[in-house]
Amino acid sequence: MPNQRINFDLNDVVEMKKPHPCGENKWKIIRMGADIRIKCLGCGHSVMLPRSEFQRKIKRILEHGVKAEENDERK
Ligand SMILES: [Zn+2]
Repeated sequence: MPNQRINFDLNDVVEMKKPHPCGENKWKIIRMGADIRIKCLGCGHSVMLPRSEFQRKIKRILEHGVKAEENDERK
């Protein structure tokens, strides 16, 4: 299967290809920018990854975060 680009956004809960050593594999996106900061929901540890690296390591989105703005018409 080709590597699909995943559309992620702030506050999304994501699964990574490799779980955190604490055993949890749920991460929340807490900062978006040139670097993405994600926080492990198991132990609260946070890591920062360059966007390109994050894109490679993400497996799927588990939950879409609630956004302040409503952009549903953008589809
Ligand atoms: Zn952890």
